[in-house]
Amino acid sequence: MGQYIMKSAYNVLRDNSMDANVGNKKSFWTRLWHLKILLKVKHFMWRVICDCLPTKDRLLSKWVEVDSKCPVCNLIDETSLHALGFCPVAALCCQLQGVRFDSAAINNTTDWVQEIYQHSGRSEVNKIFMIALMIWNNRNDVVWKQKGRGAKSSCRQGCVNPEMAEAIGIREALSWVKEHNWPQVVVESDCLGAIQANSCSSISLSYLGRIIDECKRLLLELKSRNATLRFVKRSANMVAHF
Ligand SMILES: [Zn+2]
Repeated sequence: MGQYIMKSAYNVLRDNSMDANVGNKKSFWTRLWHLKILLKVKHFMWRVICDCLPTKDRLLSKWVEVDSKCPVCNLIDETSLHALGFCPVAALCCQLQGVRFDSAAINNTTDWVQEIYQHSGRSEVNKIFMIALMIWNNRNDVVWKQKGRGAKSSCRQGCVNPEMAEAIGIREALSWVKEHNWPQVVVESDCLGAIQANSCSSISLSYLGRIIDECKRLLLELKSRNATLRFVKRSANMVAHF
């Protein structure tokens, strides 16, 4: 015999919905609700832990017809854990704040939050959760407003010199920008030779020259959208070398 109250139902639902690996489920949630942080951040993290953000894997599980790839990096299928913790842009944001996660030990967002709890003080937890919300907002900007920071990578076989590889990379990036109709795009490269070749008016019949010509043509096509090509030092090009 016992007494049924609404709180009992909440406790049962809370415990059943969580990963069995979480030891003390009550203190796990209490820690979240007691954080001195904006309510919208707590609410967002509650959705993260319950895995109810509308990421591609969740949409597909509800039979919504979307492609499965992460909209930010286009590298692998999107899950909440990937979007907030391991997508290259998300990982970079965390790394810039001195936070790095051990991907081998984390299988879902509950593990991820546990890892944050275990290795961070209260103010750091607040900071990471706020960053997570910003990362999610950036992801939504990419999906809905076609802006925000994105990343893409591809692999090609063959042996070329660094200048050629960078020129091919610039061409791919510009094609990607053109494909997505993005305005105000800055393509950064730490290869001075490739940048200078793009600003040079002379014509070269070499293979590199042909790639550079394609980059120039794409830049011309993207001129109305203010696309520009810019040199950055390798030490400052953290998106590519984190
Ligand atoms: Zn991604």
